[in-house]
Amino acid sequence: MSDQSTSPQQTLQAGAELHGFKVLRVEAFPEIRVTAYEIEHKKTDAKVLHLHSFDRENLYAIGFRTPPADSTGLPHILEHSVLAGSEKYPLKDVFKELMRSTLQTFINAFTYPDKTIYPVASQIKADFFNLARVYTDLALHPRMLKETFLQEGHHLEFSSPDDLESDLIISGIVYNEMKGAYSSPDSLMFKAIQENLYPDSVYAFDSGGDPNVIPTLTYEQFREFHRTYYSPTNARFFIYGDITTSEHLAFLSEMLAGFDRVNIDSSIKSQKRLTAPRTIRSTYPIGKDEPIDHKTMVNIAWMMSDNTDYETSLILEIIAALLVGSAASPLRKAMIDSGLGEDLTPISGIEAELRQLLFCAGLRNTQSSDVQNIEQLIFDTIKIIVANGFDNELVEGVLHQIEFHGKEVVRGSYPYGISLMGNVFQTWLYDGDPLIGLDFPRAIEDIRRRWTDDPHIFQKMTKQWFLDNPHRILVIMEPDADFNENKEKAHKDKMANLKSSLTKSELAQINTQAAQLKEFQSEPDSPEAAATIPKLKIKDIPRSIEIISTQNTLTGGVPTHEQDQFTNGIAYVDLAFDIAHVPEKLQPYLPLMGKIITGMGAAGLTYEEMAKRIALKMGGLGYDLTTGFTADAKTNWQKMIFSFKALYRNLPEAINIVSDIIFAADLSADARMRDLISEKKNNLQAAIIPSGHIFAKMAAGAALTLPARRDEQWHGRTQLKFVQNTANNFDSAKQDLREKLETLRNILFTKDNLVINLTAEDKGLKIAEENILHLVDKLPSMATIRMETEPGLAPVYAGISIPAQVSYVAYVLQAPAYTDPASALLMISAKELSNNYLYKHIRVQGGAYGGGSSFDSSLGLFSFLSYRDPHIVETMQVFKDAQAFYSQNEISADEMEKAIISTIGMLDKPLDPAGRGYTALMRSFARINDDMRQKFRNDILSATPRKLKDALANYFSRAAKSAAVAVYSAPEKLNEANKRLEEKLVLENLSDD
Ligand SMILES: [Zn+2]
Repeated sequence: MSDQSTSPQQTLQAGAELHGFKVLRVEAFPEIRVTAYEIEHKKTDAKVLHLHSFDRENLYAIGFRTPPADSTGLPHILEHSVLAGSEKYPLKDVFKELMRSTLQTFINAFTYPDKTIYPVASQIKADFFNLARVYTDLALHPRMLKETFLQEGHHLEFSSPDDLESDLIISGIVYNEMKGAYSSPDSLMFKAIQENLYPDSVYAFDSGGDPNVIPTLTYEQFREFHRTYYSPTNARFFIYGDITTSEHLAFLSEMLAGFDRVNIDSSIKSQKRLTAPRTIRSTYPIGKDEPIDHKTMVNIAWMMSDNTDYETSLILEIIAALLVGSAASPLRKAMIDSGLGEDLTPISGIEAELRQLLFCAGLRNTQSSDVQNIEQLIFDTIKIIVANGFDNELVEGVLHQIEFHGKEVVRGSYPYGISLMGNVFQTWLYDGDPLIGLDFPRAIEDIRRRWTDDPHIFQKMTKQWFLDNPHRILVIMEPDADFNENKEKAHKDKMANLKSSLTKSELAQINTQAAQLKEFQSEPDSPEAAATIPKLKIKDIPRSIEIISTQNTLTGGVPTHEQDQFTNGIAYVDLAFDIAHVPEKLQPYLPLMGKIITGMGAAGLTYEEMAKRIALKMGGLGYDLTTGFTADAKTNWQKMIFSFKALYRNLPEAINIVSDIIFAADLSADARMRDLISEKKNNLQAAIIPSGHIFAKMAAGAALTLPARRDEQWHGRTQLKFVQNTANNFDSAKQDLREKLETLRNILFTKDNLVINLTAEDKGLKIAEENILHLVDKLPSMATIRMETEPGLAPVYAGISIPAQVSYVAYVLQAPAYTDPASALLMISAKELSNNYLYKHIRVQGGAYGGGSSFDSSLGLFSFLSYRDPHIVETMQVFKDAQAFYSQNEISADEMEKAIISTIGMLDKPLDPAGRGYTALMRSFARINDDMRQKFRNDILSATPRKLKDALANYFSRAAKSAAVAVYSAPEKLNEANKRLEEKLVLENLSDD
């Protein structure tokens, strides 16, 4: 790595021509250590943007403008289908093949309302170009088979195959995926807003697909859409990483050979401005037994400036952050304090990814009779702001956040390149300047200058874009307990009508086609076809583990881990408090304690004042409850971790803030406490449908190990029920809650209970150390006594009813310790199951959006999961059959190699600076040392089909006895399943009453 504070040296000049490309512009962005090249392909006009950086995780993405003309989900179905295979790579599912036979660190495809993007990333150069080569070929020359269209889009079949008397049903991967999305109140809310705010534009349609409209899509339309939009002329290539620009251009010129410029108008037209506000009414599903009082959701949404008008957009983004971005924001506060609703809707804030910006402010869990009051309140509050202006500190806080997030290198589940890509596409897609959003120091400077020139600028713009802007809609969504049932019934009637309109021979034809599709799906790819995919060899995989070097010291007697690494001037601090000794009855209170003390006032300051301080001095503050077995599983660890991050210059004050929160959080304000609990409740509730498989896994796992039980208690349905109960009976519960939180504070925040973890460059580590000492000195010393007895575990065979049109099935077994010789093999088998058996049976044949398996030695669980699944009983059977299959059959050497590669790929996922520090901390709690990690890696690399089969036969035969099952689904579907299941699911309800 060269000088860390600059960007890579410029290698091409503007105006240079190379490999058939012309360099239009070169610009350096030292703050993010990038040199950007804007390039055009002379023959096709294909646009290329390369952000050259020092990052060895290179990213390559092809994007197309794909404006939809209806809600058939054409762009989405095409996105799935393109990845199925091309003439050159004639496999049934190339995407899947790449996923498991390369060391990709990211491979995906995204359908947006107006574009489709195909990104891949890898840390290994040869692998990177293999991926980019295949991906480009897929996008530009896909096979577009009829079978693929039927499988990914929609097709008819009989609910019992070959039984022409049984119901006619529609199946298809995108079809089922979107049925899931159409069960989620949040997606329905966003859809209602987008459709109605942009009624004459492409945003009036659902590019993802409306399950009611998807079945009208024809194979011909599907092919035509590709011909129209997937040409180099309509493409934008986004490339990021440390490979040089000229290497990319040489590669691209080969990929684009043979293509010519085409005539295509794919521009995304602006929505013309409405002259009067509108009101929209809609409904969303709610559980049958849930009370419908106080369940109305109310949003006001404005259409704002054009995305390419960067100056205006930036000010509007700042105004949005000022209005609702933090707990100190005046509009957010007024809405919450009004008591008219429980908390802000999750889409409140600004959406900058569409051609014209959208701002939304809304409340959930309100009453229909309060709609006018809510509207009045929002406008009255904005009027007051326009008259009096924003608090200067609040503005400074927002500018600090822009600086912080501009500097921070973040790689969560997405490569850092992906977040830069999102930034670029915001303007690039609409023919604006692609680089304008990358220069955050200049943006801050511009804003400061404009603010100095005109101290009223934010007020004026608020007046212009909020008060005087008639292009807005009021969206009222009412709960409907019959929503899913009516939908299901209407659908069944429609299908019955369709069936009765068809002749016997037409029905037989449908059955034959469905059977042919199943046959096509179950037929393996020929070895010749499989051989076309460029593969990495096991010998090309790095043999050694990557080591995160940690210094262990003491800070005022407290064990401290220090990771010295490049963080771009940001320090990450984790304060981990032991909670293994927290009594059973206090365990459920831990998540609320985190939420409340980090969200209330402290040290004589109100919560808004604290929120302002946090925004001014920190990049973020959060808490996490985490637990796991040690490497040998002889014992377990449980921690509550407070994490925060700050620029070095702000570290002393950031540590003061945390110290105030720990020692002087003020638990007295009732209204604020109630709001925080409601927010927690709503967030948990809203998380169920998008991550039902995780909830199901937690519910089943809780029966098997103590760490999994804790995980469920803190993050699963047990926590949801606890929080619902506390929120709904707040007045009678608050006194007890305060006492419990006080007790927790006393037993948690002691010197003996703490471990400190610091991640920064040398300079930042020094500042952090010095200042954290003040905090440590204030902590009392008190030896902690670990609980003698641990709670018993109860078996689970649960059916948990939720308002959803699809199911989530979890079948979970107890897993061995990390150091157990079988563990590496089990991790490989989880990958193999996900990539092969479950993928084939649950997704391809079962029509679920996803199916997979995971091995987690930390929680001690081996899981089989399905996601947005039309089946329950069949899926449980697939899980059992999978165990039998792998206990009896050896996989091929080729499959073994792929399973090993994808397992290593998972272990070698790149981490951002904060992630590296946190991972090192987790490993220290689990007492996993580098020798163990190297041994684990060796075990993976030396696995053979024989070893795998033997280990699985042995493991499954023993573990099957421990199986725990949990299913999240609609009550009707659970009842139906119980009619067919030998062992019945014990039904529970998650309704909020
Ligand atoms: Zn999809």
